[in-house]
Amino acid sequence: MRPSLVLILLAAASLSAAAQPTPDYDAAAQSVRKLLGELVAADTSNPPGNEARAVAIGAARLKQAGIEPEVSEFAPGRQNLVARLKGDGSARPLLLLAHIDVVGAAGQAWSTDPHKMTEVDGYLVGRGVADDLGMAAMSLELLLMLKRSNVPLRRDVILAWTGDEESGGAGIIWLLEHKKASIDAALAINEGGSPVLDEQGKVVRLAMQAAEKIYQDFEITAKGTTGHSSVPLEDNAIVRLARGLAKLGDHRFPARLLPVTRAYYEARAELEKPELAAMMRKLVAAQDELPADALAALEADPAIRADLRTTCVATLLSGGTRVNALPAEAKANVNCRILPDETPADVRRQLAEVLGDPALEIRPVGSFGSAGPSPLDGPGPEAIRKVAAEMWPGVPVIPTMSRGATDSRFLRQAGIPAYGMRPIAATEEDSRRAHGIDERIAIASLRPGLEFYHRLVLDLAAKR
Ligand SMILES: [Zn+2]
Repeated sequence: MRPSLVLILLAAASLSAAAQPTPDYDAAAQSVRKLLGELVAADTSNPPGNEARAVAIGAARLKQAGIEPEVSEFAPGRQNLVARLKGDGSARPLLLLAHIDVVGAAGQAWSTDPHKMTEVDGYLVGRGVADDLGMAAMSLELLLMLKRSNVPLRRDVILAWTGDEESGGAGIIWLLEHKKASIDAALAINEGGSPVLDEQGKVVRLAMQAAEKIYQDFEITAKGTTGHSSVPLEDNAIVRLARGLAKLGDHRFPARLLPVTRAYYEARAELEKPELAAMMRKLVAAQDELPADALAALEADPAIRADLRTTCVATLLSGGTRVNALPAEAKANVNCRILPDETPADVRRQLAEVLGDPALEIRPVGSFGSAGPSPLDGPGPEAIRKVAAEMWPGVPVIPTMSRGATDSRFLRQAGIPAYGMRPIAATEEDSRRAHGIDERIAIASLRPGLEFYHRLVLDLAAKR
């Protein structure tokens, strides 16, 4: 074969394989960093939110790149941003979701100004850099990269920035109620999981969030006969409430494995010390009854204990009006985190049984929404596993169930499987800083995060 022909064939082969030249990830990471700094400075602390400030910044970026943003106001000064790159329609859309409100930093002793992104020892420090402005900035940058490269898509790729995730999800709820078509998708990538770094900065696993516990508060009220405290009566409201709460404190809801927690502990066993690993393997191998010895060993860890069951715990208490009067009423708030295949109504019935006093009123307070888990197979998890294996060979992708909640519960409820995979790798210590002081992301996580995200979105949405 003549050399020129070889070259032509090689060039053709590489074009059809990758279809696109490798983008400049370093430049894109710089651009993410700049946008993130502006979003942090916008101060979208919720309450009150002021998400319109962040939306204005994102909308300007998109317009500059020739992408028409769709802005919707769900409350005064509070907005969502949606933008779409069209595919050929041969597959249903992919949604990239991020929330743009942040938890307030007032009263927290930060070592830098929380609303001014600051570089400290290789980290970017500022409120929201991890939760969730970093992902918001990356998702928008990704749309710009796709637009620039003009890559042919089989799915529409939709970017959605939502407000109010941190206090109820009014932004995503508004979109699903009024503009569902604008974000309807075959699947969504959201926060809730991420690549996890060890202390040396090496990616050791990817936590892929596929389920969330259901959040539900209950108000428990006891009523009693009031009167002079010098003559105590049997139906003392405080005592009755306290008896019920003491029973609840001693109660453990039954331990159960869901497919997502089974997969999680199966994968985690590979990473644990031999003794703990053996117990985890024994637990996940169980078909009906969970083995008592494995349960006892694992449940010494309160976090594992909470993964395996619904939990309900007393969090607020009030009662009585005067030091020398019998209380007419006593109230407690009981906060429940419910396994995603159970319902708040089931739990209310169980609470009544556990409290064991029909005179105690049990009233659900608010509804934070609930939904079953996303499937652990299908296009989302398959693509995540494939791209993770390419970028970090041998590193496991572990399905997880969050004990807290994200906007994903509303998507799952609306029939859109959502997966928590924030592309910015973090240590467990970094992750714990979300909502707290000195929230941070490693600068070194930006470039590989962007590459992972870009490859993931191409795998899911580019024409084959
Ligand atoms: Zn968040």
